[in-house]
Amino acid sequence: MKYMGIYPPSLEKLIEHLSRLPGIGQKSATRVALHILRSDRPLAEGLAASLLDVKEKIRFCSICHNLTDDDPCGICRDERRANGSICVVEGPGDQLALESSGIFKGRYHVLNGVLSPLDGVGPEELKVSDLLRRFEPEKIREVILATNPTTAGQATASFLGGLISERYPDITVTRIALGIPMGGDLKYMDRMTIEHALKTRLPVRP
Ligand SMILES: [Zn+2]
Repeated sequence: MKYMGIYPPSLEKLIEHLSRLPGIGQKSATRVALHILRSDRPLAEGLAASLLDVKEKIRFCSICHNLTDDDPCGICRDERRANGSICVVEGPGDQLALESSGIFKGRYHVLNGVLSPLDGVGPEELKVSDLLRRFEPEKIREVILATNPTTAGQATASFLGGLISERYPDITVTRIALGIPMGGDLKYMDRMTIEHALKTRLPVRP
């Protein structure tokens, strides 16, 4: 059933835009829109400004491909993080989950996806060469593969593990291990689980 507008056109337009966002249905969109309408002007101004800010300022770090305001990002600029370890994750949400666990002190590499041949996502789309290019200048000795324990995440880890072990036999490749259930997602793991997974990582054999 098509929704028939009952509010003034400008309010209807806001509701329509909001309801296009993920997880926001018509009801929530209406509630949010009415809340914005009732609130003071600074709320609307702040919201509008930060929406545009995000689109204008957020970019991908040219080194680790994580989302950042500044390029290179804070972690890539931080010399204390240059400890020879690099942790490979699927997306910015996974990087954030690992980082907030506070266990890992090295640098990250964000693939922004997983291998998915049927969707046309191969090593080139994931910019795997950008990852390999970092090994020498950053004197990488260990690569931790922290892609999610899904079928695609596992396949991506196996592919990277094989590739790295073959081309860089001196680098230790490990895979986060116990505690992360199959089909799980790092973004939704608690700190204890992530800590355990990182600490019990296992070597990847080609
Ligand atoms: Zn970076």
